[in-house]
Amino acid sequence: MEDCIFCKIVDGSLPSEKVYEDESVLAFKDLHAQAPVHLLVIPKKHISSIREIGEEDGPLMGKIFAAINQLAKEYGLADKGFRIVNNCGDEGGQTVYHIHFHLLGGRSLTWPPG
Ligand code: 5GP
Ligand code: ZN
Repeated sequence: MEDCIFCKIVDGSLPSEKVYEDESVLAFKDLHAQAPVHLLVIPKKHISSIREIGEEDGPLMGKIFAAINQLAKEYGLADKGFRIVNNCGDEGGQTVYHIHFHLLGGRSLTWPPG
C-alpha cells in the first residue's frame, strides 16, 4: 500500500534490520527499542489493524505466531518470558497502520504498561 512505511519495509524501498522472513511474514528490529529485544512481526499483506482481520486471515495469524515462537527461542526468551503487544487504534497507541505485533523481552517487564 502506498504511503505505508511497513509496506515499504516489505518491498525493500525502506531499509530495516530483518530477523525473519518467509513468503507471508516479516520480522525486523524496532527502530526505537523499548527492551533489549524489541522486534516487530508483520504480515507482508497490508492489513491496517486488528479491526481489519478477516476469517480468511486465520492461517496467516497462525504463521505470525509460529514466527514469534521461533524468534522467542532464537533470542533466548522462550523460557524466561516475553511480551507480545498489539496496539490498535489511536487510543490504543497505534502509530503505524499496518498491523504489527511487538515482541519484547530480555528484561523484567512491568505491568500495567503506560
Ligand atoms: P505502534 O505504536 O504502531 O504500536 O508501533 C509502531 C512501532 O514502529 C514503534 O515502536 C516504532 O518505534 C516503530 N517504527 C516506526 N517507524 C519505523 C521504521 O521506519 N523502522 C522500524 N524498524 N521501526 C519503526
Ligand atoms: Zn502496509
